[in-house]
Amino acid sequence: MIAGPVNPETTPQASGTEAASQPGAATGTITDASLVAALSVADKVLLLTGADSWRTQGASALGLRPMTTSDGPAGVRGVVKDERSPSSSLPCPSALGATWDTGLVHELAAALGAEARSKGVDVLLGPTINLMRTPLGGRGFECFAEDPVLTSGLAVAYVRGVQDAGVAATVKHYVGNDSETDRWNYDARIAEHVLRELYLIPFEACVRDAGTLLVMAAYNKVNGVPMTEHERLLKDVLKGEWQFSGVVTSDWHAARSTAATALAALDLAMPGPDGPWGEQLARAVADGAVRPEVLDDKVVRLLRVARSVGAMDGGTEAAGHPAGARLIDPALLRRAAAATVVLLRNEQEALPISPDAIGSVALLGPNAFQPTIQGGGSAGVVPVSVSTPESALRAALEGQAEVAVAPGCQTWVMVPEPPAGSLRDPDTGEPGLRLEFRAADGSLLGSEHRTSTSLAWWDGVPPGIGWGETGRIVLLASFLPAATGPHLMGAAGVGRLTLAVDGVTVTDEQTRIPADPVEAMTRPGEVRGTAMLDAQSEAEIRLEFRPAADGEGPLAVRLGIIPAADEDQMLAEAVQAASEADAAIVVAGSAAMTESEGFDRSTLALPGRQDELISRVAAVNSRTVVVVNAGMPVLMPWAGEVAAVLYAWLPGQAMGEALADVLLGLAEPGGRLPVTMPASEADCPVLHATPVDGMLSYDEGLLIGYRGYDAARIAPRFPFGHGLGYTTWAYESLQANTRSLAPGADLELLVTVRNTGTRHGREVIQAYLAGPPGEVTRPVRALAAFGIAEAEPGEPAEVRLRLPARAFARWDEKTAGWVWPRELFTVHVGRSSRDLRLSAPVLSA
Ligand code: BGC
Repeated sequence: MIAGPVNPETTPQASGTEAASQPGAATGTITDASLVAALSVADKVLLLTGADSWRTQGASALGLRPMTTSDGPAGVRGVVKDERSPSSSLPCPSALGATWDTGLVHELAAALGAEARSKGVDVLLGPTINLMRTPLGGRGFECFAEDPVLTSGLAVAYVRGVQDAGVAATVKHYVGNDSETDRWNYDARIAEHVLRELYLIPFEACVRDAGTLLVMAAYNKVNGVPMTEHERLLKDVLKGEWQFSGVVTSDWHAARSTAATALAALDLAMPGPDGPWGEQLARAVADGAVRPEVLDDKVVRLLRVARSVGAMDGGTEAAGHPAGARLIDPALLRRAAAATVVLLRNEQEALPISPDAIGSVALLGPNAFQPTIQGGGSAGVVPVSVSTPESALRAALEGQAEVAVAPGCQTWVMVPEPPAGSLRDPDTGEPGLRLEFRAADGSLLGSEHRTSTSLAWWDGVPPGIGWGETGRIVLLASFLPAATGPHLMGAAGVGRLTLAVDGVTVTDEQTRIPADPVEAMTRPGEVRGTAMLDAQSEAEIRLEFRPAADGEGPLAVRLGIIPAADEDQMLAEAVQAASEADAAIVVAGSAAMTESEGFDRSTLALPGRQDELISRVAAVNSRTVVVVNAGMPVLMPWAGEVAAVLYAWLPGQAMGEALADVLLGLAEPGGRLPVTMPASEADCPVLHATPVDGMLSYDEGLLIGYRGYDAARIAPRFPFGHGLGYTTWAYESLQANTRSLAPGADLELLVTVRNTGTRHGREVIQAYLAGPPGEVTRPVRALAAFGIAEAEPGEPAEVRLRLPARAFARWDEKTAGWVWPRELFTVHVGRSSRDLRLSAPVLSA
């Protein structure tokens, strides 16, 4: 089934709620309304709850087939998370934020949409357009930026790209889900003008400018009301003021009431088939608590989305994972990952490294070998392949420079999975393992060969296994260790885990049931034991997992094996290698499970002994380059000690190749920070987001991110917007089309810059708007527009920027509307929020 592009221009612009009954609705709506009129209440409520974890219900009488949803935003997983159905792994959204490049984001999103389409996915559950309120936010890597204007620009490009491929986008999580701690319950207390001027901006842009087909209502409350029941924000603002004509879906299991959610204008309760709607909603209609037209409006909206993605053609459901999945061109992923890298510091042009000028490189740091290519949680995919910095740099420097390697320290949170090739299926002898599903009485229900030791299920586990049942899952493998000696073994899952080596039990324990069900997948409890293993002989491993009986949500089991290590010795080896090489490259950063959905980080410090590793390496090698592999800010106490710092984010599967391109100068690290890098935790305008008495008070108001640093006059380690690239730029002129702007008018700027360096380069031109000084609760200046210049050495480039009228407005709580105060603004144009090169005064009104 091929669907055409989902173009916002052709999406019918209907109504707030109850579109079906409104006069003047577009033709498609009338057709759908008459279709809906023929349905019974029972038929209607059936359509409004998912059929299973990922699919909606179909209705053959309407020619409607079930629609398949699948998580984004950094890849499209499909309905299973399984190494037999891999997905392209894109740079995480904070990395895309660092590109400031709407064209590139559109190109990637369109490619992602095409992959989704080829996998039978109709609805992508992305992009995430919450703001990075705190750098500790567990899901910050899934957001584009700490600023709403940058977020909006990229999110609009992303939604258009996905929908151009015939797949519906879902902007999430509406709204106030800017941190993870107790996300199911907390009450975000946010002043109305702060909602309007910060957190709602990206949602409004995606509705008005990109025609997003779905919006996902978050778990949390805002100002006392659960978002799935938030009549004012859903019905009045989203569907009323902004004229959103698509579907509001709940976040998974976020709908927790019947009439309140239905009346607040939630349209789809996911997942299904259970939930608070179904028969209870039909009863609410029969009782008169919910008017029948309320249901009609929801069904019409669902049909509108279905029509847009080609699910109304009477066909059958597209297969979940056809063999012919259209994966994203690896060259695009490599180019994109390179474009996201930000060069934060580059003393004496330590970068790029010219292989002619150096004879040897020490490649150090845990992430050189085990990079963290993506964050944890629903955004995770099983990548098609992973290019590690080690493999890519070795290949790139082959025959040109010697490469010595040493990880230097360990940072893992859960015992790492054994290396590929070290395990054998005891039944077939093939590389991998045997997975058995057994009933409570031990009888075999099913068995399969697998190649991953990290396995997850949402549904599809055979009957008798899984939550609420007493079945068990058994992993069997023959393991050949690389070295003789003690090995640490870890078994993870929510339930009882019994791990035996050669018939001897090394651990047998129960893990706790997590507060957030998604943790069963992102960081389930792990039990550990030690076994002496011999490199000459295979060990027979048996892991038996009995899932906890009373949990709900996803199911996962994981086996880890690693030789016991002496970290002092690891550090010493790395320092020795650094002291003997012409240049040292340390790839440091987050470990798997450091950054994830379901929980916030507790510290901004790099995990393990990485700070110590970097300082000791820098002390013995003056050409030390640090690459930070993290989705959100980390503390960089050593930044002044090293020659160069690159921020490489969570770059997706192409990490190694992209990094080699950047390090060796084949690609420019043209990224600019979408988030402020703090010098210390105490400097952050908002740090811990731990609810107090169930409440999360957004007391900082408008002053998040760089706005908070500016207001408090604190110098960050590296400011928002910063990034050096491989050339230098002069800002030559700034022209504004007027000095006196009428309320509601846009301002146009023409900026001329010149490449004053010796290489072709790319510059992100940033325009910030400063109001009159003295208002302590308002930002000193705020990003209002951005654009990209490219030029050859010595050449000028002109960039036109449009500052939208809204940049000059503020939300007036008394009149509940936007107002344009008569004020003298200053437009600043420059290279970062702290490097402003040109300015012009503009009188508003
Ligand atoms: C997440 C959503 C996700 C959904 C389905 C939820 O826990 O918050 O972002 O789309 O699960 O996986």
